[in-house]
Amino acid sequence: MKLIATEEHYMSKAVNEQYMKVMTKLVSPAIRARLEGLQHFLESNREISDLGELRLAAMDKQGVDIQVISYGNNSPMDLPPESAVLLCRQANDELAAAIQKHPTRFAGFAVLPVGNPQAAAEELTRAVKELGFVGASLNGVYRGRFFDEPEYFPIFEKAAQLNVPVYFHPGFPDEKVSDYYYRGENISADVSAVFSAYGYGWHVDAGIHMIRMLLSGIFERLPDLKVITGHWGELVPYYFNRLDGYFFKSITGFDRKFSDIYKEHVYITPSGIMSRSTAMLAIEEMGADHVLWSCDFPYVRREDGKDFLMELDLSEDAREKIAYKNAETLLFKNAPGGN
Ligand code: CA
Repeated sequence: MKLIATEEHYMSKAVNEQYMKVMTKLVSPAIRARLEGLQHFLESNREISDLGELRLAAMDKQGVDIQVISYGNNSPMDLPPESAVLLCRQANDELAAAIQKHPTRFAGFAVLPVGNPQAAAEELTRAVKELGFVGASLNGVYRGRFFDEPEYFPIFEKAAQLNVPVYFHPGFPDEKVSDYYYRGENISADVSAVFSAYGYGWHVDAGIHMIRMLLSGIFERLPDLKVITGHWGELVPYYFNRLDGYFFKSITGFDRKFSDIYKEHVYITPSGIMSRSTAMLAIEEMGADHVLWSCDFPYVRREDGKDFLMELDLSEDAREKIAYKNAETLLFKNAPGGN
């Protein structure tokens, strides 16, 4: 069965060098230490920076036919616009060149200079129309502001207009949030760092981000907007019953239930989390039409993802949708057979 993986990352060596130069001057010593550490988070940066043979070999081992590639950690999105506009462009161009070389194996989500939302909307247009990208990917929030805030509306308006989805990847929570939730006198700095991020905290952050997007009314204003979240929906589908039960129409002003809006506009992916019970709950709550596949290359190094999907207790129809059909409909609708 064909497999399309949708949360797979790369990092440009040239862009990362510039990122470190700009970012280390802007942030607190604690965040600077985190950035330095992150550079060595992966055993080696060879695979994440490779857009050729190493990546293709890893995909073959995972049984992945197509990777939809997005920027990983240290995203140029985080930078002030005076650096981000050019560096996002450079990162997108680098990815586009690789896609052109391997058009049947790679596709791309654009990285956007969100600090200047107008420039971000223009870069999204360029990425989709000129480079053939199939959407955009955002990492976390920008300088403590969630993307439901009004200044970012032009980015989503453009995505809806271009009919491409936006992937909400988690990112490090704001320091105020980390201080309050994830630090404690009996919790070591190392434990706190993991707790606030990929251990748990940034998933909660991403889930809250999605709930905020919906409650802000953006899907009522942009009925064509589609978004994607990883990690089986960042805990949100687990809580549909509660969210439906308390966000009454009289409070939200929406005609539909929370989960009905969610299931129309949001797609979820596993991001390498291979827990059968989590998968079944998420698929049951979301419906097989709104689940895509993803491995989270190269952060999650597992080669049994395809076996996991093949062994889940699903109808063959549902399995095909999750493996590739939903991705084809959502991402490659403009180029049928092109991928
Ligand atoms: Ca990821």
